Amino acid sequence: MTQHLDTLSVHAGYTPDATGAVMPPIYTSSTYAQRAPGEHSGYEYARSGNPTRWAFEKALAELEGGVAGFAFASGLAAMSTVLELLDAGSEVVAVDDLYGGAYRMFERVRNRSAGLKVRYVAPEDTAAVRAAIAPSTKLLWIEIPTNPLLKLIDLRAAIDAAHAVGAMVVVDATFATPYLLRPLEYGADIVLHSITKYLNGHSDVIGGAAIVRSPELAERLGYLQNAIGGVLDPFSSFLALRGLRTLPLRVQRHCSNAQAIAEWLGQQAGVADVIYPGLPSHPQHALARQQFPRGFGGIVSVRLQADEAGVRRFLAALKLFTLAESLGGVESLVNLPWAMTHASIPEEDRLRRGVGPNLLRLSVGVEHVDDLIDDLRQGLAQIG
Ligand SMILES: *Cc1c(COP(=O)(O)O)cnc(C)c1O
Repeated sequence: MTQHLDTLSVHAGYTPDATGAVMPPIYTSSTYAQRAPGEHSGYEYARSGNPTRWAFEKALAELEGGVAGFAFASGLAAMSTVLELLDAGSEVVAVDDLYGGAYRMFERVRNRSAGLKVRYVAPEDTAAVRAAIAPSTKLLWIEIPTNPLLKLIDLRAAIDAAHAVGAMVVVDATFATPYLLRPLEYGADIVLHSITKYLNGHSDVIGGAAIVRSPELAERLGYLQNAIGGVLDPFSSFLALRGLRTLPLRVQRHCSNAQAIAEWLGQQAGVADVIYPGLPSHPQHALARQQFPRGFGGIVSVRLQADEAGVRRFLAALKLFTLAESLGGVESLVNLPWAMTHASIPEEDRLRRGVGPNLLRLSVGVEHVDDLIDDLRQGLAQIG
């Protein structure tokens, strides 16, 4: 019997050890005694393997339905290690509404250091996605939903098109979490997470993860994790596993709060546009209902009917929504991608993509929804 995600997330990765401890101890030792040269308990040096990290990694693999999980010091450390699976000069196709740091990694780092050539494609246009994938494509890089415009992609069609030319598919499902969407079930080769966000869920860890579908990729990525060395530390591994235990509970609340806030915002003067996959007005709402049967996530993007000064008055008035980068914690945050998370993207690209100075991204927390709406109401009153 396959267990529900709610049950799995409480138990995954660890059973009480010899002491009976129901949560894994934090092993801080950097090295492990060997009985004879090369004869050890499975642990030799803590970059290569650490029992606390392994418990978290095993839990990730179970939650995503993969064969192995690997935890890294940040989401970008996970990305950079995954990209080392490619040979220099490889051609990559990526969705065009990328996390700013992913875009920076492709364009400002790996283009120079590894000659990666990245083509960007609109994920909502399935024909364009198919057309962008060429016989020479080695990797398809997907984010679902995208950041900050919450675009979706027809995963099945995109993954099939990539596999038809032998390209690998990586899905950054940070915004979705395994509670809402499990990309490996669609045939993706690797799922990537910034565990800094929902998986840890409490805004007190920086970490990343990659979960793989095949033993062959497990072997290759495990080798790279150790060879490159950007591993998650034991204390963060412990915290992140503790966070995972309540993932379904938290995500349910994030989703119901976000849905209510998106619907409410849609009726307010001062709001030009609300972007949320759970609204019938979202251009891919039908696809969203297929791919996200449990809920549409905790992120709501909104364009205010305001100039820059009005946007700043709104932000300054908010009391519960903290102005900050990041997302996915229990507390509500608001971000102005134009000036914050997406500032590293050239201005004309931002404008072309629809990330203008009046677009805000809300990370809706788990507070009482009425209090959150009250806060937004008094913020909107400051715009006019
Ligand atoms: C935050 C984020 C990352 C980067 O993760 P870090 O933990 O900040 O390095 C990558 N992808 C998405 C979608 C993110 O939101």
